[in-house]
Amino acid sequence: MLKRSIRVTKWLGMVPVVAVCTACGREFKASLTAIRNVADAQETLRLQFAEHKCEPEAKLEQTIEPE
Ligand SMILES: [Zn+2]
Repeated sequence: MLKRSIRVTKWLGMVPVVAVCTACGREFKASLTAIRNVADAQETLRLQFAEHKCEPEAKLEQTIEPE
């Protein structure tokens, strides 16, 4: 079972604006309205993180196979 956690990669002062999933590398961004407030920005990033699905294997399946 994958152990995933969220990591903030970009800050705007005290406000987290970009975060990534440590398991699949997916990036989450807080909207311009959300970053006006630290709590809103954190909540937005956490929500996106909670709702996404880690699918590292799906990327491999998308590679084009020769006919
Ligand atoms: Zn993930």
